[in-house]
Amino acid sequence: NKPSFILRNPSANKGTGFSQEERNRYALRGLLPPKQESIKEQSARCYQQFISFQNDLDKYIYLNSLRDRNETLFYHLLMNNLELMFPIVYTPTVGEACQKFGNEFRFAQGMYFASGDKGHMRSMMDNWVNDQVDIIVVSDGSRILGLGDLGTNGMGIPVGKLQLYVAGAGFPPERTLPVIIDAGTNTQKYLNDDFYLGEKHPRLPNDQYYPLVDEFLQAAFDKWPNVLVQFEDFSNDHCFHLLDHYRNKYLCFNDDIQGTGSVILSGFINAVRAVQKPLKDHRLVFLGAGSAGIGVADCIMTLFEEQGVSKEDARKCFWFVDSKGLITTTRGDELTPQKKSYAREDHTAEQQLKTLLEVVKEVKPTALIGLSGIGRSFTQEIVEEMAKHVEKPIIFALSNPTNNAECTAEQAYTWTDGRCIFASGSPFKPVEYKGVVHVPGQGNNMYIFPGLGLGSSLCRAKHVTDEMIITAAKTLSTWVPDQEVLQGKIYPGLKNIRAISTQIAIKVIEKAFEQGMAQIERPESIEALVKSYQYLPEYDQTK
Ligand code: NAP
Ligand code: MN
Repeated sequence: NKPSFILRNPSANKGTGFSQEERNRYALRGLLPPKQESIKEQSARCYQQFISFQNDLDKYIYLNSLRDRNETLFYHLLMNNLELMFPIVYTPTVGEACQKFGNEFRFAQGMYFASGDKGHMRSMMDNWVNDQVDIIVVSDGSRILGLGDLGTNGMGIPVGKLQLYVAGAGFPPERTLPVIIDAGTNTQKYLNDDFYLGEKHPRLPNDQYYPLVDEFLQAAFDKWPNVLVQFEDFSNDHCFHLLDHYRNKYLCFNDDIQGTGSVILSGFINAVRAVQKPLKDHRLVFLGAGSAGIGVADCIMTLFEEQGVSKEDARKCFWFVDSKGLITTTRGDELTPQKKSYAREDHTAEQQLKTLLEVVKEVKPTALIGLSGIGRSFTQEIVEEMAKHVEKPIIFALSNPTNNAECTAEQAYTWTDGRCIFASGSPFKPVEYKGVVHVPGQGNNMYIFPGLGLGSSLCRAKHVTDEMIITAAKTLSTWVPDQEVLQGKIYPGLKNIRAISTQIAIKVIEKAFEQGMAQIERPESIEALVKSYQYLPEYDQTK
């Protein structure tokens, strides 16, 4: 183990960035080309290499290999080209990378806890390469993006999401840990695939599944008592239960439910600013009542309550359509508790509405929110029907990827004669309609989870409370000035993500103190606390 081993350690390696003095100190003389480069010069070369790849999966592999050679350089490149590279390290490209995980596998990142590891998880935690972990993103691979059950192939999701936590909020990379809980997979293709890297068996039944997750969480919080655990891409049959069970026990949150709820709430706050109609006069129709739909509605509900509307009255402003039609108490099927709480009581079995068009005709919604995963389900007829009855329709076509969006930005602006306030989950380019340029909003969770995570972690919050989540949404909404809101722009640019995340973290910490949730002594300056923690991808000259 010569000191030159430093060239193989991604968190210490600087490549051509090592100074002459460092090259002497670490016995690197002769092992590197003579020129000493700044990280900017290195980054410019990597940018050239990055854009030379034609195919997005190749770009993904290139970036992850760079991370494994020189982590600082990887983050420097990523942070300076976030809008270009975000869709590569995360959705949509990460989806393809997960589907081909077994084929493209090069080196292991993160940790795996499989059913065969029962009874060993606490000691496994000691195997992790870094002593201190502040944040874990964990998935069981059961519902990766919109792609279904990918089993252990889902590792790309915790890996990618944590890269966004680092870039967006400034978690130090060595304090992040991506985790897959391997509870099997029900996708036959992978069970038959020679290259599949997970345990080859169907998903565990609940009586084995829940104890597996529980042992993992106990082991993680025993090893790192102040860690924040973020649940990601757990299927609907488990995600609500896990969150309910653990949210008041450990410091944890589920981004698919709560992060989505928060970011769409923020967009909705600004949409309400744009249409200038009092909240209580809104009628919201949701297409899709899964983790995202319910998470968003629960968040918007709290806004009603804050404005003095009772829960009971607020519920009357919501209509949900799922794969069976309008959700009502009289539909005659067994509803999940989440659906039950939004089920309409004002329809008899005979009046049951089956299609979104029927619901739109009856309800005349002010807001139409798509979280169904069903592409182009906001048809011209539906959108035009809605636009007949409201001056500025709020249309959120949030399903990902782009092909699954309930309608495109262009369709929404055209069919409403340029009057709608539009947001989507995947990005759409600005649309020119009758000489006016409309900027569609992107309700990207990336606006919220880094800052929410950083704030709750830094003050060692006991739990992530609803109020902290609402605070994050409101803080984000203030990043769009009135003038832009009135033009229909409801989200800020992604390039300010560090500043946005920093402010969200500060507000979340203030809220945690207000609620008695913070478990640190109140610092003189919360801003200074946040800033002193944040990682920047620069070479440390003292090491
Ligand atoms: P999910 O849990 O699988 O829920 C999907 C929901 O859509 C279910 O309620 C389902 O009905 C309903 N649905 C399916 N087919 C339908 C149809 N033909 N007509 C009406 N409803 C139908 O999925 P999710 O996690 O909530 O995510 C849903 C979508 O939201 C995904 O496309 C995802 O990309 C997107 N999303 C966007 C953001 C964002 O923009 N920031 C964040 C998270 C998720 P049943 O309940 O009857 O099965
Ligand atoms: Mn997700």
